[in-house]
Amino acid sequence: MSFSSLGLSAPILKALQEEGYEAPTPIQAKAIPVILQKKDVLAGAQTGTGKTAGFTLPLLELLSRAPKTEAKPHVRALILTPTRELAAQVEQSVDTYGKYLPLKSTVIFGGVGINPQIATLKKGVDILVATPGRLLDHVGQKTVDLSKVEFLILDEADRMLDMGFINDIKKVLSILPKNRQNLLFSATFSDEIKALADSLLNSPVLLEVARRNETGGGISQALYILDKEKKRELLAHLIEDGKWTQVLVFTRTKHGANKLSEFLSQRGITSAAIHGNKSQGARTKALEDFKSNSVRVLVATDIAARGIDIDLLPHVVNFELPNVSEDYVHRIGRTGRAGNEGSAISLVCGEELEYLNGIQRLIKKEIKQIFLEGFTSKQVYVAPEKPNRGKGKTQTRDQKIRSERDARNGGQSGKPTSSRDGQAKKPDNRDKRPWEKDKKAGNNDSRAPKSYSTNTRSDSGHSRKRNYDK
Ligand code: AMP
Repeated sequence: MSFSSLGLSAPILKALQEEGYEAPTPIQAKAIPVILQKKDVLAGAQTGTGKTAGFTLPLLELLSRAPKTEAKPHVRALILTPTRELAAQVEQSVDTYGKYLPLKSTVIFGGVGINPQIATLKKGVDILVATPGRLLDHVGQKTVDLSKVEFLILDEADRMLDMGFINDIKKVLSILPKNRQNLLFSATFSDEIKALADSLLNSPVLLEVARRNETGGGISQALYILDKEKKRELLAHLIEDGKWTQVLVFTRTKHGANKLSEFLSQRGITSAAIHGNKSQGARTKALEDFKSNSVRVLVATDIAARGIDIDLLPHVVNFELPNVSEDYVHRIGRTGRAGNEGSAISLVCGEELEYLNGIQRLIKKEIKQIFLEGFTSKQVYVAPEKPNRGKGKTQTRDQKIRSERDARNGGQSGKPTSSRDGQAKKPDNRDKRPWEKDKKAGNNDSRAPKSYSTNTRSDSGHSRKRNYDK
């Protein structure tokens, strides 16, 4: 399938060609025609699937088709995202794909001065990308006019609810015109998301691509089990020994991110930390330095890392496992993007084995265990038996969501795999992408030898509170 067969016009096709996009991804192939028919959409697609272009391209197309009614642009499309980084990323996409169209866009988020945003809004924009809090600041100051919004897009809606934005979203909805097209993108479908979708969408078309919580096939996953005290040394060793030049490391807390970044810098490994306590300026600079390879390691907490899209990011390390299993999938999805391969390494200490069990149940596979003399435990970790196979047993919330999803999908997996030619040039390494996979290809993770079980199984992983920084 080609982009031109989806009904996109020449200026958009030209921009896509320049980006090196040859064919639409599955979510794009499904979403673009439906959105062009002006239908509301509820889409289940996680980051890395090409979802941003999935809603941006038809949005640009529809906006450019409708004749302008006023000389000065007014906000016709509103895109809400959970984090500043994702908002910036989405606006960048709007800008890239719309560069040959006479449409204006801007992004507004907190943590930076409001006055330049007010000045830009005053000049008029067609497409506004925003985080909910700062948008409401503008609404309160009457520096944005949302009375003519025709399109509302909620991107990563599950994460917005996780971050407590539901009331802000409701406030925004209450001031938008009733007659508009709504698109809701979410990686997972909790009851809260379903309730939001029910209140927001009119007879939506339900679109779903790769299984939720499915880890990308282009990502090789491995773990080391070791004492907590040895983690820092092992991380430094892996970076130095492997000559890693760009690695995103996750910690659970902001304090932990700072401490680890300091340790690495002292070891001569250039590093920066990114989390919610840092000013927006510091976060943007850290990200830019990391993208341009002037720092080797970016240490991040979950929320801060959301929306980071770096082509060819080769390594992700979980310095600590997340206590909510889905966050593991989001974290490792930072690598192996757009058809490239990536490695995701987890450093696991005894007290995290319970989280590991939850993660392995979620992704439905055992992660390969690696031993390293002087660092890791000699004991072999064996994941406990998969629970709740038999009928009549209680399902965890996680399993319930998955079985509902599986039932909807008719049990189809759609799990991606990929390959790349190792070259850094965009168009060249996109000849095989995760979404073009051979579904029969098995994963190449080797199984851990089964001689020792830690048996720390627990079903409580998902009711645990996240350690988010906001
Ligand atoms: P997203 O899921 O929107 O975060 O996109 C993931 C990555 O895929 C981004 O780096 C996009 O630039 C890239 N991408 C999106 N659509 C395509 C496409 N049709 N062909 C190649 N790359 C794409």
